[in-house]
Amino acid sequence: MVVFVVNCGSSSIKYQLINMEGEIVMAKGLIERIGMEGSLLKHTPAGKDTVTVEADIPDHKVGIQMVIEALTNSEYGVIGSMKGIDAVGHRIVHGGERFTDSVLITSDVLKGIEACSEIAPLHNPPNVLGIRACTELMQDVPQVAVFDTAFHQTIPRVAFLYGLPYESYVKYGLRRYGFHGTSHKYVAQKAAEMMGEHTSDLRIITCHLGNGASITAIKYGKSVDTSMGYTPLEGLIMGTRSGEIDPAIIPFLMEKENMTAQEVDNYLNKQSGILGISGVSSDFRDLEEAANSGDERSQLAIDIFAYKVKKYIGSYVAAMGGVDAIVFTAGLGENSPFMRDKICNGLEYLGTRIDPVLNAVRRKAREISIRRARVKIFVIPTNEELVIAQDTYRICRGITKL
Ligand code: AMP
Repeated sequence: MVVFVVNCGSSSIKYQLINMEGEIVMAKGLIERIGMEGSLLKHTPAGKDTVTVEADIPDHKVGIQMVIEALTNSEYGVIGSMKGIDAVGHRIVHGGERFTDSVLITSDVLKGIEACSEIAPLHNPPNVLGIRACTELMQDVPQVAVFDTAFHQTIPRVAFLYGLPYESYVKYGLRRYGFHGTSHKYVAQKAAEMMGEHTSDLRIITCHLGNGASITAIKYGKSVDTSMGYTPLEGLIMGTRSGEIDPAIIPFLMEKENMTAQEVDNYLNKQSGILGISGVSSDFRDLEEAANSGDERSQLAIDIFAYKVKKYIGSYVAAMGGVDAIVFTAGLGENSPFMRDKICNGLEYLGTRIDPVLNAVRRKAREISIRRARVKIFVIPTNEELVIAQDTYRICRGITKL
């Protein structure tokens, strides 16, 4: 089965074509600047150079059509025709409380995804556009929705409710949902495999540290708490996002700086985090460089980030009554021995320590704790596209074209 994995953002489409026999990526690519000047497609067939196609891409349907043309192109395509696509897997950001697992998309499911747009106004509408575009272009190909939130639906009420009037949960669904679910699930499973055990026997803390960052407590295979909340703004400080703050700061800013709700939202999502603290960059590579040249605020941003991660790890050890493994993944987690070391420095009381030689690794799955450590530490590259393809395969096996 060949699965077309689609991840639609408001002005972008990321895709991969994966042959599930051997889980081989046949091609991958990205469309940027949909509906803007300078829109383009970057398409990379496996083992070949990237092809860039500049064209007017007014909407997602035209975008998906361009991707299909690239995939079937006689020169740089990888399949003979659209018939070479057996199923489509969509990354959907928000599944609310209704979707606890990936699901075959029907008109009823689509309505459910649209209904979640109210709680994810930035993310779900472009996901829906992607589904509609694929439906129009590939009528009889089954499509599956894979939700960022689904893995976290096992979080108990004590961990997902905020200290707000209960009616706000009943009326508006105000609660912790959590995100990056496919990534947390994938790396926890990989860690268990590397330990020769099952997730159902382990307590694992997964640290997805990229531009967006979240930490999850996975107790015996189930997410029991996670740092992102109602939106992906809560929790750790991130590239440009504040993470948790005292909510009283919001009305204070609105009054003192004469900001609208939209402006505060922008302030917390786009101007805060390590960018806001350092005043230098939202990218940890730039911060490490600036800190090494003596920039104090860059050093401070790095210190605050590492402190927050450590604090979450400690709180999730408490939430689970112990921990067996800690996993680092995503851009920073996979690539920064320096940050991993900084975060784990001081966790020796848990029965773990990083081995500096093993820690000198980037983008490779490896155990990096010292030998005989009671709590194992791993670096595991995440692969959200593969999880989407695997779920699509699991659900569509047996269904050929609908
Ligand atoms: P992601 O959102 O998972 O793509 O992660 C992107 C972020 O990872 C970047 O903004 C950087 O902050 C961080 N990152 C990527 N590569 C490195 C590296 N070699 N060293 C430190 N940080 C890195």
